[in-house]
Amino acid sequence: MKHRKPYYKLTKLVAITIDVETDWGGRLRAGPSNCLGIEERIPYLLSLLAELNVKATFFISGEVVKNNKDIICEISESGHEIASHSFKHNIDYGKLSKDELFNQINISKELIEDEIGIKPLGFRMPQFRINDYLFDVLSDLGFKYDSSMVRSIFPSRYSSLSIPSEPFFKNGILEIPISTIPYIMLPLGLLWINAMGFSTFRFLIKPIKLPDPIVLYLHPFDLIVNKSKNDFGFFVNRWYNYKTRSVKDTLISVLDYWKNKNKEFICLKDLLSQNKSYMEQEGF
Ligand SMILES: [Zn+2]
Repeated sequence: MKHRKPYYKLTKLVAITIDVETDWGGRLRAGPSNCLGIEERIPYLLSLLAELNVKATFFISGEVVKNNKDIICEISESGHEIASHSFKHNIDYGKLSKDELFNQINISKELIEDEIGIKPLGFRMPQFRINDYLFDVLSDLGFKYDSSMVRSIFPSRYSSLSIPSEPFFKNGILEIPISTIPYIMLPLGLLWINAMGFSTFRFLIKPIKLPDPIVLYLHPFDLIVNKSKNDFGFFVNRWYNYKTRSVKDTLISVLDYWKNKNKEFICLKDLLSQNKSYMEQEGF
């Protein structure tokens, strides 16, 4: 086993990652369409990202590919990266056998290849669930990187504190962990930042050296403003519109903040060709 500490100066890179799936991640009853996030918010996201000249990585759930082929092609034609978010979203990936896991990921890969014409290099597990066979299966299917792990204090839901916060190799696959919010160690998701308020988030990260790259995640559905028709009442409205600040405003604040700090926005696949020495480590 060989450990090599990567050499980083300052955090330079930011990766915006967008998980594209059915509304509510398939977990809760959706409205008339179960893809409102995709239909209504991806066009908005594409114009915002174009305006800011930011390229992002879109992890696409296989089950939405056929019905949303045009918009997914548009994502790709806009210069963003298309990666896989497996096939079904709302199943317990931690419990799948190796064959079952292989099938789920393989179906999504073939759908993206056949319908969109892209060979996905990267993968993210739905709900960040880790399966013991994940890295073997990704390797068998020709994937080059994974971005499902979180260095978090919630080991049952996310990964654990034992993984590095910056990219490392595992079974020949480059793992690019989702970043965490300093001190509270929650995944760096747009809704968490929105719930705490952008100014609190900025206060927390100011004195900290964040990992390189910073990996932020969000869903198109997060940006739908009026979710009150969904009967989830107080909690959901609180979560999505905390302190009257909309998720959309929070996203713009986050992007502007890093733009003004001269960060370079990258797609995750760009890391594969960067001449960096990642840690070679097994057994996380
Ligand atoms: Zn997801």
